[in-house]
Amino acid sequence: MNMLLSVRNLKTYYRSGSSVVPAVDGVSFHLRKGEVLGIVGESGCGKSTVARSLINLLDKSNARIEGGEVLFHGEDLMKQSRKAWSRIRGKKISMIFQNPQSALNPVYTVGDQIAEALTVHQKMSRKEARDRVVELLKLVGIPEPESRLTNYPHEMSGGMQQRAMIAIALACHPEIVIADEPTTALDVTIQAQILALMDRIRAQFQMGMILISHNMGIVAEMCDRIMVMYGGVVVEEGETAAIFAAPSHPYTKGLLASIPSLDEDRDTLYAIPGSVPRLTAPVGHCRFAGRCAYAKSKCWESEPPLIEGENGHRSRCWLMEAPDRGHDDERE
Ligand code: SF4
Repeated sequence: MNMLLSVRNLKTYYRSGSSVVPAVDGVSFHLRKGEVLGIVGESGCGKSTVARSLINLLDKSNARIEGGEVLFHGEDLMKQSRKAWSRIRGKKISMIFQNPQSALNPVYTVGDQIAEALTVHQKMSRKEARDRVVELLKLVGIPEPESRLTNYPHEMSGGMQQRAMIAIALACHPEIVIADEPTTALDVTIQAQILALMDRIRAQFQMGMILISHNMGIVAEMCDRIMVMYGGVVVEEGETAAIFAAPSHPYTKGLLASIPSLDEDRDTLYAIPGSVPRLTAPVGHCRFAGRCAYAKSKCWESEPPLIEGENGHRSRCWLMEAPDRGHDDERE
């Protein structure tokens, strides 16, 4: 598969008063054409900050990209001007947000909001854009699209709003779609429909997709590869099947153990003990050490690099260490 996106040592920090919060602290990964990469982890691990950094949608009042590069067709997105970004965002790379109610503009009809992407990026006439909007609404499974064009967001259900968001994101056939918890605000049956819809359209247009989720069940179904984040860094990455068959990082093992199972009769679900550390906490040791049942003195003395195992499976844990294994961080 062709490489679409290559992220190298991305660092995004928030500032709050005199504190600096390294929300994304040296993250590297890639995305190939037609591939779905899942980014998972608990809230506060840096997943959404990675997404917003990639599409240049950070709140500039308190967030800054401090380093790294994001190569898209060989060009560093971090060095693009505002004008260049207006041609990239929505056209080449688009985003589906978690909450359509806050992402859609309440004072414009859904049809106008989808058409805007087409008239701005594709230079379509109003008539051409209207016809294309009807096609897109059909594509995302909105019934009676001709009459739904003139609906305002509040006249649609949550599921319909999310379908409209997907239509906006796909309007210009982007090469990459970033979906940040796209179904979290929906009930379970609608979730399944929306995920199936996204997967069908992604496959049809051979788009690359980055799916951000805290739900391991969803990433198991949708993703080719998984990247697990903890404390602003990648702690494990590999093929989905390999990670589910043999997770190597204790944090990933904890996430997988937290998935409810129909086969087990348990009164309470497993939860990883403790909570995600504050990102302002000093590092220099394994960021998961405070919650890890396998922590030993070395884990508190130095932070493990990403250690590569078989088939590109990488894990940031001293348990992976073997004399002949390479360290990814050393190559970066
Ligand atoms: Fe646990 Fe040590 Fe591995 Fe960190 S490096 S996850 S503390 S065993």
